[in-house]
Amino acid sequence: MIDHFADRVLPLLGDLRWQIIHNDTNSSNVLVAEDDPELIAGIIDYGDMIHAPLISDVAIAAAGICQHADDPVSAICEVAKGFDGVTPLEAEEVDLIYDLVIARVASEILICTWRIANPTGPIEYLKDFVAQVWPAFDRLLAAGRETVRARLRGALKFPPFCPGPGEIDQAEADTVLEEMLERRRALLGPKLYLFYDRPLHMVRGEGVWLYDATGRAYLDAYNNVPHVGHSHPHVLRSITRQYAALCTSTRYVYGNIIDYAERLAATFTDGPRVCVFVNSGSEATDISWRMAKMHSGKSGAIIIEKAYHGGTDAIDAFSPTDRPVGEIPAHIRTIVTPDTYRGAFRGNDAAALYAADADRAIAELDAAGYGVGAVMIDSSFVNHGIIDVPAGYLKLVVDKVRAAGGVFIADEVQAGFGRMGSHMWGCQVHGVEAEIVALGKPIGNGLALGAIITTPEILASFTEKTGYFSTFGGNPVACAAGSAVLDVIEDEQLLANAMETGEYLRRGLRALAQRHPLIGDVRGIGMIAGVELVRDRATQEPAKQETKQVINAMKEKGVLVGREGGLGNVLKIRPPMVFKPDNADFLIAALDEAVAAI
Ligand code: PMP
Repeated sequence: MIDHFADRVLPLLGDLRWQIIHNDTNSSNVLVAEDDPELIAGIIDYGDMIHAPLISDVAIAAAGICQHADDPVSAICEVAKGFDGVTPLEAEEVDLIYDLVIARVASEILICTWRIANPTGPIEYLKDFVAQVWPAFDRLLAAGRETVRARLRGALKFPPFCPGPGEIDQAEADTVLEEMLERRRALLGPKLYLFYDRPLHMVRGEGVWLYDATGRAYLDAYNNVPHVGHSHPHVLRSITRQYAALCTSTRYVYGNIIDYAERLAATFTDGPRVCVFVNSGSEATDISWRMAKMHSGKSGAIIIEKAYHGGTDAIDAFSPTDRPVGEIPAHIRTIVTPDTYRGAFRGNDAAALYAADADRAIAELDAAGYGVGAVMIDSSFVNHGIIDVPAGYLKLVVDKVRAAGGVFIADEVQAGFGRMGSHMWGCQVHGVEAEIVALGKPIGNGLALGAIITTPEILASFTEKTGYFSTFGGNPVACAAGSAVLDVIEDEQLLANAMETGEYLRRGLRALAQRHPLIGDVRGIGMIAGVELVRDRATQEPAKQETKQVINAMKEKGVLVGREGGLGNVLKIRPPMVFKPDNADFLIAALDEAVAAI
């Protein structure tokens, strides 16, 4: 124990908060009011006061209290919670409480034992004390450092401890994971999908890195929700400062929702814009569709085949993904994916040839009596396998829909906030402004937030026929997060980074493709890259199983990528926007090894 204290605890004490501490905060030094024993009237015995880590006072008090408790761990937690309620503790301090309590109790036993052996006065009370403390000490040792740390963190609402590399052994982590998987299956249902053959238990994120429960770092090349990087300090500060001040709904006037809406609206230059705030991408596409229907007076819509736009009842019809065409509701028509790698049209005239399918869909919707109220398209085409769309295609389709009386709903849940590099919104990259823009995922860097940006006329058509209100939508904390994301995008010039690093990444991937025939195609734009794996470049036979293997192997090498496309053979690389060329190098090296091992 002394070794552990000297090696692992003492070196950390210097970095904690120090102040004058009482240094003997035991219950014998507390006075209570004569007429109310629950009321602390004073503290005595300042003779031991020293300048020391603040947390020592907590540990000393906990050490005293826990000796008399049947459940010493609960007693320690209660003392820490009480202190934290007045003077908030820090995670680093909380993590040391167990060792400091042990050190305190051990010192008491040693000092008393020494005094018993070298008496200068009565020793009976010392003997009683030692006899009483030993069992308490044994109970504390039996509880163990990890258990007490986890209980303390839980009681004080700190997230689980993130160990340094090698601090937790793999077998221990595996046992914890198995237990959690079992509870998860029982409580959340067995079908809640997890990534990887051997799922990951993540405990911390920072920038482009995620850390698992053993402290292992993984380069995150998959997650687009932490748009400006995991746990970005500016977003963190904005959220916590706002929550400390106010978090209500839009039923009250408050400045930051107006400021935030103003900033979002200013990203459009084609006329005035208004915002409706919701809580997710699905809600954003759902409200977008309701707006389009009410504005156009038509009830049919066009989507690209195998699209995904969300999970509400109405939007489920817009998300057929793998559903056969026959099972798609009649008011929805799908048009062929403008895929220049696998599709029927790959030449210079591909845009017009693919767009012509919209004529068929419009005619069908008109003939069926629905008419076309909207076309909804994910501007980045991520969910379609990160395809390279022929230039001009989107504008041709949108023009046809507009001519038939419908509007364009740009689903920017994937593409928005500069993901595609050259513009803030994906539709702008295609040279089209959308009447309705649906936002989600990256908008709040992980905080639940969604938005619809539209024209005042469309909003008027919507609100004329329905009163709309979302309890959480546009709450001050969500707006603080959204606004902080916009700050970071500007301050760290993330659009330019998406262009440069994205291009650098694809160059590296294309170089790999020259050495590995398994890589059939490398695509993407801005900070999105798709790598299509094929068994044979001539036949383009999809390498579905190999894609799974590569993804799992890359995880073992510390890199997280995903899988996309109807054939399940496209690597989805869509990292936080703060991904840098050295991260790209790391990813490419891992992919090189993973593909070589197939
Ligand atoms: N639209 C697109 C293009 C998406 O990719 C998603 C989510 N994958 C959604 C909408 C739905 O967003 P959410 O999961 O936040 O409801």
